[in-house]
Amino acid sequence: MTKIKKSTTICKECGEDPTERMVGGLYKKNLLHRKMTKSFCKQQEILYSNHKLKPIWKECCGALNHYQVTLKKPKKDYPRYQT
Ligand SMILES: [Zn+2]
Repeated sequence: MTKIKKSTTICKECGEDPTERMVGGLYKKNLLHRKMTKSFCKQQEILYSNHKLKPIWKECCGALNHYQVTLKKPKKDYPRYQT
């Protein structure tokens, strides 16, 4: 009988375990995950028009670390409403 070798996909650098995070674990190498993060960024940018989102991937294993939010500078001709 041969033992089924469990493939260890846990990252040695940061301890990221994809099997532990069935829902939250997103990876840069996964095209679908990249699309998901992109659409998430777009959604947020629609909700908050002055936000710019960028997914930050871990360099070691390519897992999604966080979303970097930068505030867009308001346009010069942005209408100002004075009270
Ligand atoms: Zn890692």
